[in-house]
Amino acid sequence: MQTVLVQQRNFFNAGHTISYADRKHALKRLSTGLKQHENEILDALYQDLGKSTHEAYMSELGLTLAEIRHALKHLKGWMRPKRRRTPLANFPATQRIYAAPYGVVLIIAPWNYPLLLSLAPLVGALAAGNCAVIKPSELAPATAEVLAHLIREAFPEEYVAVVNGAVEVSKALLDEPFDYIFYTGNGTVGQYVMERAAAHLTPVTLELGGKSPVVVTQSANLALAARRIVFGKYLNCGQTCIAPDYVLVEKQVHAEFVHHVTEAITKMYGTAPLKNPSYGHIINSRHFERLCRLLLPEKIVHGGEVNAQRLQIAPTVMNGVDAQDAVMQEEIFGPILPILEVNNLDEAYRFIQSHPHPLALYLFTQKRTDEKRFLEELQFGGGCVNDVISHIVPSNLPFGGVGASGIGAYHGASSFQTFSHPKSIVRRKQWWDPPVRYLPYKNWKTRLLRRML
Ligand code: NAD
Repeated sequence: MQTVLVQQRNFFNAGHTISYADRKHALKRLSTGLKQHENEILDALYQDLGKSTHEAYMSELGLTLAEIRHALKHLKGWMRPKRRRTPLANFPATQRIYAAPYGVVLIIAPWNYPLLLSLAPLVGALAAGNCAVIKPSELAPATAEVLAHLIREAFPEEYVAVVNGAVEVSKALLDEPFDYIFYTGNGTVGQYVMERAAAHLTPVTLELGGKSPVVVTQSANLALAARRIVFGKYLNCGQTCIAPDYVLVEKQVHAEFVHHVTEAITKMYGTAPLKNPSYGHIINSRHFERLCRLLLPEKIVHGGEVNAQRLQIAPTVMNGVDAQDAVMQEEIFGPILPILEVNNLDEAYRFIQSHPHPLALYLFTQKRTDEKRFLEELQFGGGCVNDVISHIVPSNLPFGGVGASGIGAYHGASSFQTFSHPKSIVRRKQWWDPPVRYLPYKNWKTRLLRRML
């Protein structure tokens, strides 16, 4: 581990990652590797999480390739130094901001989108001219192995390396003096990562989770809302950081909304979802058992079937849930959708405000006034109006949390900025040297200074 770090630092210091050509080449190699290993990747995602080919491409491989394409298209522009107007105090001069790579960055990834969440940050790190060490999640071992193989083929270890292993490996990596740490996972480990980073004053991005609410108002198109919520909730069996965690629905439309949700589930997953080959499974028995403990049989209005052997839980809806129920005490991260009734939007907003800032928030409404309140009064990472999870798709939107749901953002230009230090440079002209700042200070100089600052 230490050897890799020393080698990467030497490689970086030798300037092998800096030029536009180097970065472009690196991104292309990554893209080629992904295409060459497409079948192994899809197999691995099926092994780890039971993801169907369609889902694995849509939510992992396709998004990663799109992120690379976007970076390749915009890289030159991102790298170009940005000119800034010179204030009178610095006259005569030109001013520019240069995006400087940090050096050697560490990317720690989780298991739920094991390919995307290892490689999307890597795209930003490479575009910004860094070397990188990736630590995939040990809970998705098949994907971790494919990643190691793919990266080894595409890059020398002194440029990009995959270090596989469990928590101890992750901890050992965090003891090393990386120049930047990009962590995706739960908040408790996020705090630990930040503590370890503090020892070396290493800057961090923390992509965390939390309970992402959905608010369904009485003006919403209920059938459409239900279909979209069902898609976003049960994708990857609910093991999605921005999955709708719970729904707050206005009482006037509560019953009708629940009906549409159950109908949408049956339409998408059939009457025997555990036999549906497109429906995956829970990552491991610990999470499976945790999720089973959240099920309240008397509140289940749809689903609830489980298969312990295959770690499967059917798409489940719990109605009449209240804030004290276990399912409302932690991020669910599984295929259980609690629905809570609220008297009005005020109640929904107060409920959301009284909880930690969520990673995502979704509002279903046809009223602009509801939208305005939602956008202006509530704090959350990002979200959608009349949809769920689609704000993660475009590379030209920054993605990240706020407060308990994270620090910093990435994707596209935002990734490039995350992995770059903005180096401000004033290029002073030599044809005139204004005397105002120099001693001896005189009244006329003070008067002039006061006009300039
Ligand atoms: P995980 O258990 O795979 O952990 C993530 C990484 O941290 C792994 O590589 C693991 O080895 C490492 N790790 C675990 N414990 C550690 C420790 N004590 N010290 C050092 N490293 C350690 O994944 P997880 O945390 O279960 O992931 C799920 C969480 O991640 C959810 O809360 C989810 O919302 C969040 N998440 C957020 C995003 C996002 O983009 N914001 C994306 C996916 C998941």
